[in-house]
Amino acid sequence: MQDTKKDIRALTREQLRAFFVDRGDKAFRGNQVYEWLWSKSAHTFEEMTNISLETREILEAHFVINHIRVDQMQRSNDGTIKNAVRLHDGLVVESVLIPTPSRTTACVSSQVGCSLDCKFCATAKLKRMRNLNPDEIYDQVVAIDNESRLYFDRPLSNIVFMGMGEPLMNYNNVIKAIDKITSKDGLGMSPRRITVSTSGVPKMIRKLADDEVKFKLAVSLHSAIDEVRTSIMPFNEHFPLSELRAALEYWYEKTKSKITYEYVVWKGVNDRIEDVRALVQFCRFAPSKVNLIEYNPIGDEQFRQADFAAIQMYQRELERNGITVTVRRSRGKDIDAACGQLANKKG
Ligand code: SAH
Repeated sequence: MQDTKKDIRALTREQLRAFFVDRGDKAFRGNQVYEWLWSKSAHTFEEMTNISLETREILEAHFVINHIRVDQMQRSNDGTIKNAVRLHDGLVVESVLIPTPSRTTACVSSQVGCSLDCKFCATAKLKRMRNLNPDEIYDQVVAIDNESRLYFDRPLSNIVFMGMGEPLMNYNNVIKAIDKITSKDGLGMSPRRITVSTSGVPKMIRKLADDEVKFKLAVSLHSAIDEVRTSIMPFNEHFPLSELRAALEYWYEKTKSKITYEYVVWKGVNDRIEDVRALVQFCRFAPSKVNLIEYNPIGDEQFRQADFAAIQMYQRELERNGITVTVRRSRGKDIDAACGQLANKKG
C-alpha cells in the first residue's frame, strides 16, 4: 500500500462513484460522500454520519481530506478580517473578508507566494512555493462565508481573486475552484459575483475568452506606458502592453464583458498628464472601468501615493472620455490586510 494517501477532493463525482462500484458498493454512495465533501464541507470522514462505519474506515484507508485550517484570525477596526490559512503541508496563505453595509467580499489567494516581481507588492517579496489546489481555494471561500454568517449575519456575496499569487499562472486550479464555487454541488454562487484579477498574462486572457468563462476580469494595469510599467512590473518586458491590449480586445470580442482596470497613482511614477492620456488611449476599445486604488505602504519608501490633485486629474480625464472611474479607499490597513500587503506577517 502506498504511504501517501490520495486527496479525496481531487476526485470528480464520477471517479468517486466508480470507486464504490469497483468495491461492489452502490454508485449512489459516491454521491453521498461527494455531498459531504463539497456542499457540507466535511473536515473528517467521521462527520459523514449517513455513511456506515465500515465504509468510513475504507475511505480513511485510501484517502485524506486536506482541509485548510484557519490558524489565526485578525480583525481590523473597520471590520475587515484577515485569516492566516494553514495548508496540509504547513505552508501558509492569507485571505481577507471585506464587509460593507450591503455586501461581504472574500479576497482569496491562488498561490503560496508569487512568481511575479511587482515592485510595490509585499507578496512579491515571498518566493512562489506552489500553486494552491482547487479545494484549498474553495476552502478559503467557505471559511469566509462562515465568518460572514457568524459576524455579519449574512452569507458571502462576492469573491475577488486579489490575494496572494497570480491566478492566471494557476489557471486550471482556479477554474476548477470557481466551477465548484458556482455549481449546485458546491456553493451555488453566481459567476457574476466573482472577479479574477490578473497582472495581465496575454495568453491566459485569450484562454479565458476561449473557455467562455462567466466571471469578471480585472487587470492590474498601473501604467499604460511600457517603459513606466516595466519599471514597476518588470515582467511587462516579456508581455508588453501591445500584447496585453490585443488579448483584452480578443476577450471583449468573445465575451462582451466589461473590463476593470486596477490602478494606483504614485508620486513621480505615473502622475503626469501623459500617463492619464496613455490610459485613456489604452482602454478606449471596450467599455471599461478604472478603479483608482489607494497605495498601501509595504514598509519601504520607494513608493508614495500621488497628491490628491493627480487623482482628481485622472478622475476628470477618464470621465471626460466616458470611462467609469471609482476612487477606492483601502480596507484593513491596520492589520496588513489591504491590497498588496499580504505577506504572512503575524499580528
Ligand atoms: N496577481 C494579481 C492579484 C493579486 S494583487 C494581480 O496582479 O492582479 C491584487 C491587487 O493589489 C492588484 O491590482 C495589485 O496591483 C494591487 N496591489 C499590489 N500591491 C499594492 C499596494 N502596495 N498598494 C495597493 N495596491 C496594491
